[in-house]
Amino acid sequence: DTEREQKMKLCVISGDGIGREVVPQAVRVLHRLLPALQTVTADAGWDTFRQQGTALPAATLAAARDCGAVLFGAVSSPAYPVVGYRSPIVQLRRELGCHANVRPTLSLPGSGAAEGIDLLIVRENTEDLYVGEEQSDGDTATAIKRITRAASRRVAETAFRLAQDGGRRRVTIVHKANIMPLTDGLFRDAARDVAAAYPQIAVDELLVDTAALKLAQAPQGFDVLLAPNLYGDILSDLAAAFGGGLGVAASLNLGSEAAIAEPVHGSAPDIAGRGIANPVAALLSLALLLRHWWAQPALAASLEQAVRRTLADGIATPDLGGDASTAAFCDAVLVRLDLD
Ligand code: ATP
Ligand code: MG
Repeated sequence: DTEREQKMKLCVISGDGIGREVVPQAVRVLHRLLPALQTVTADAGWDTFRQQGTALPAATLAAARDCGAVLFGAVSSPAYPVVGYRSPIVQLRRELGCHANVRPTLSLPGSGAAEGIDLLIVRENTEDLYVGEEQSDGDTATAIKRITRAASRRVAETAFRLAQDGGRRRVTIVHKANIMPLTDGLFRDAARDVAAAYPQIAVDELLVDTAALKLAQAPQGFDVLLAPNLYGDILSDLAAAFGGGLGVAASLNLGSEAAIAEPVHGSAPDIAGRGIANPVAALLSLALLLRHWWAQPALAASLEQAVRRTLADGIATPDLGGDASTAAFCDAVLVRLDLD
């Protein structure tokens, strides 16, 4: 499929801080898997805001749209409100219509994670309490929780398709429909409707509080979790606690026109500039892009396998107790990719 590969383009946005260290290294590894990949680099973030007066220049948005696939490193945000500053990743997800946020949690060797965890949280990314419609008269404050059938179906469709593409067996719908029968009930019913089209994938449901308890007790028991925005936000951070920390937490923002691979970590100014940031989160985010956007499951699996082997061989950056640099870790991943 070289022809297909020749059309593949990646918009590379390093951003600020350690984004500038992990992104070029992760892209170097990706080039080994996809030699014909075209990359276009683009600016975003706090430094960009200071230089160009916007954190997401129009040229960056255009490049991202054109490529469809984006790797977004990390950006710093000002510690105080700055006039005109808007978070570029929030804007980019919205502009590109990335309606689902996908976060895997894996047991990686040497990361301190328990054995046997391999779960995927698929979170609705556009509505729920995040619509930002709050009102207050000073004594009573109200927030709108908006759930639509269309957005619920769309994210459920994504969850079941990902489950199918990833060879997974079960999707668990998370809600609190006993307390919110109209909103969460609609989410659940829409998800159940979509499930009917995937008879080979088992479906069950859990109230969000029970889901949190079970996740904390036995994360190995989960496969795909499908959740509305707020519950998905909370459960994915809970799940990340089992997965070896921010240095390894990967995510993919997925829509029908574009996908943004995004390591979960921020710009980590405390370690930036020293070449020791962990590139695993960026590498595993690219693996998600390979599997779910470019439809290259075999390449995704070899990348994940090479990362696993590297860690299993005791090679790690300082956040995981090792002494490898970002570049040395990626060199080791490349060596293990070539073994395949
Ligand atoms: P920001 O404001 O950009 O989010 P932050 O100070 O909150 O920056 P994060 O990136 O969110 O930093 O990470 C919190 C801490 O976790 C960092 O201080 C850093 O020590 C550690 N950390 C995060 N990502 C990595 C990584 N890829 N490699 C090593 N350590 C990391
Ligand atoms: Mg942070």
